[in-house]
Amino acid sequence: MDPADLTIAEAGARLRSGDLTAVDLLAAVRRRASMTEAILHAYLTIDHDGARAAATAADVALAQGRDLGSLHGIPIALKDNMVTRGIETTCSSRILAGYRPPYDATVVERLKAGGAVIVGKTNLDEFAMGSSTENSAYGPTRNPWDPDRVPGGSSGGSAAAVAVGSALAALGSDTGGSIRQPGSLTGTVGMKPTYGLVSRYGLIAFASSLDQIGPITRTVDDAVTVFEAIAGHDPSDATSYRGGVPEVRSTLDAGVKGLRIGIVGELSGEGTAPDVAANFRATVDALAGAGATIKELSLPSTAYALSAYYLIAPAECSANLARFDGVRYGPRLAGRSVEESMSATRRDGFGPEVTRRILLGTYALSAGYYDAFYGQAQKVRTLVIEDFRRAYSEVDVLVTPTSPTTAFAVGEKANDPLAMYLSDICTIPSNLAGDPAISVPSGLDSDGLPIGFQVLAPALGEAVMFRVASAVEQSSGFTGRPALATSAGAA
Ligand code: GLN
Repeated sequence: MDPADLTIAEAGARLRSGDLTAVDLLAAVRRRASMTEAILHAYLTIDHDGARAAATAADVALAQGRDLGSLHGIPIALKDNMVTRGIETTCSSRILAGYRPPYDATVVERLKAGGAVIVGKTNLDEFAMGSSTENSAYGPTRNPWDPDRVPGGSSGGSAAAVAVGSALAALGSDTGGSIRQPGSLTGTVGMKPTYGLVSRYGLIAFASSLDQIGPITRTVDDAVTVFEAIAGHDPSDATSYRGGVPEVRSTLDAGVKGLRIGIVGELSGEGTAPDVAANFRATVDALAGAGATIKELSLPSTAYALSAYYLIAPAECSANLARFDGVRYGPRLAGRSVEESMSATRRDGFGPEVTRRILLGTYALSAGYYDAFYGQAQKVRTLVIEDFRRAYSEVDVLVTPTSPTTAFAVGEKANDPLAMYLSDICTIPSNLAGDPAISVPSGLDSDGLPIGFQVLAPALGEAVMFRVASAVEQSSGFTGRPALATSAGAA
């Protein structure tokens, strides 16, 4: 088997048995990138020198008996909104073109300390705003299952890279679904941790109360491995959780017998594509067959979650993005005054979706409108949290389709923001609540495109979430790989 197609667990075993070196594994992943990047454009930057040096160092360390853990020698890609020392970090925006950060994000430090090999930086919707990766200032990423379709977003580059084998795993960020929805659309596993479990230090902020970094991998087991490596308290992040990371590995294969699983009426009905709905029902039946109790629940306020999100996220973005003024970062346009220079820089530097969000957010926060918009949205957020709390007094986890549809065509929703926003209807509620959630591939639709199944758990409920996800992975038997990966591997 081409090493680019291995899981982290398989590659780790081969690295330790001496069958494979980190340098050869990196070469395989690079070869895959060179055969697919012209079609996919998953990467914005590939760090040739840094990755080679890291892979060589990983081999030397293993040969000397210094094993840094499960990620030792594993090629991993990073969404380009996580800062990397000396490596260009753009957030897919023109306003950060050429920006070379002076430090590594905490997650990057942790991956490096665990021996991981950072392959490069992946494409995203500008500042992580979008659901298709079409909002990148550097051109869209395409879906390896069908290059005429989007890979989802905003972590579309990370998801496409993992799906096709130009990385064994990747990090994404999830503010309203940006890890899970691309996971769903590319047949990969995408996980958003409980808010505060993974440090946001060095993640360029979109909406700080919602943003969370998490893994995109090929298997649930690999997601656990990456989660374990990046989670944990960080004094550099004021919202970092101090209480310790839940232990998740020991119950991973415990099965679902005796667990209570809730189906949310509001999130699995109207608007769901027929193939997605049928796959969802079949997956739930399989969980019932494996001994879980299924219960139908109502979460009435989730109906307003999308609207609340599109006030809260833009409000926070309008504040966070105020720092990009051409003075401290990125290119600067000239003007007759400082003010003119700043506004010219921002007008030129931000794309249409980011501009739309800044305007929306500024409006929602302005005097006279604050209570009616931002204030109301915060109240809805509380109601969503209360709905979840009630639900989790009756069930252990909730399940929904990850996204109402499979991958849509490039251009199909690009000019219809509302249709694009609806892609995240099932993922947004857990960001508002700060809860963990994961998308697991659960089958293919009639066009041969992957379908994702989402498992939601209460805050710090990662153990039961991974446990159910692992059962879904086993019962669905999904091991599919996109044609593009198979043909590149055979070539
Ligand atoms: N698609 C959603 C948005 O555009 C979520 C993005 C994200 O999770 N970063 O805001």
